[in-house]
Amino acid sequence: MPGNQPFPPGVLVGLTTTIPVEAVLAAGLVPVDLNNLFISHPEALAWVSDAEAAGFPRTICAWVKGIYAALSRRPDIRAVLVACQGDCSYTQALGELLEAEGREVVHFQFPYPPHRELLSREIAALAARLGTSIMETSRVQMQLRHLRRNLGELDRLTYETGQVTGRENFNYLIASSDFESDLEAYSRKVAAFLREARTRKPHHFRVRLGLVGIPPIFGDLWDYLEELDASVVFNEIPRQFSMPYPDVQDLADQYLRYTYPYDIFGRLTDMEEAIRVRRIDGLVHYTQSFCFRQMFDQVLRERLNIPVLTIEGDRPTPLDTRTRMRLEAFVDVLRA
Ligand code: SF4
Repeated sequence: MPGNQPFPPGVLVGLTTTIPVEAVLAAGLVPVDLNNLFISHPEALAWVSDAEAAGFPRTICAWVKGIYAALSRRPDIRAVLVACQGDCSYTQALGELLEAEGREVVHFQFPYPPHRELLSREIAALAARLGTSIMETSRVQMQLRHLRRNLGELDRLTYETGQVTGRENFNYLIASSDFESDLEAYSRKVAAFLREARTRKPHHFRVRLGLVGIPPIFGDLWDYLEELDASVVFNEIPRQFSMPYPDVQDLADQYLRYTYPYDIFGRLTDMEEAIRVRRIDGLVHYTQSFCFRQMFDQVLRERLNIPVLTIEGDRPTPLDTRTRMRLEAFVDVLRA
């Protein structure tokens, strides 16, 4: 919509990262997480090359190229919501590029450092821009409580009983950024999965791992770890996306507890708690080539009193041989 006109109901809105999706739903719009759209596509690797052919440098993170390529195939995604603070400068620049190409871009800023009042104002401004109100947005937040509680339960069945695998945990929680663009269907799918998972026998692997850092671009990481008798009982960022906080007062509270857009210290506290509660033996820190978040590796190793293996991915491919060998050696050490 040119200018600041509200969007008609049903319009698809692309998300470059997790933002207060309640405002999108309250406005009757359909959220589409562009990261998930990219990585779940069978041609994801070719899409990265396409973006490079269109002029993106080799030394730019593949997620940004994937998002751009995904959007170029989906003219039906009429607007894109970009976090111009709290994500990264690449996605901010991508927003400007898309605007230059004529795509409608809506900005959202997570305050840095976290600030309740500023965040409340940002959420209210986002709601107004999308053509809804903070009251409607809060109503959607209440509506989502049951689903978010179910996602918390699904997570518990991963680390307490092992009835949900690390891979399943990742898939369900990562999809909570946009609820697979169909809230009702996704809620039903989660509820049905939970019913089935509760009938499974508890299962415990020899080694319990936490996977921290941005979501890996490798698709086979969890399955390979299970072959080594190690399970991922903590998927840090997907769990953050699911926001299973029944005690939050309002949306500002909810999005202040979401650690991803702020400093590393909130993430460290979250990881420390997970290591203790989930009895984690070691952490796999996933880093993305050309991503500034690689710099957090050092502080993470210094602050967390647990073995850490850092791996790096570039393009959407299966695990390479060297990374597989390093994972195997790490799991061997933990098992010993
Ligand atoms: S992986 Fe890093 S550089 Fe790439 S989009 Fe995410 S935050 Fe930005």
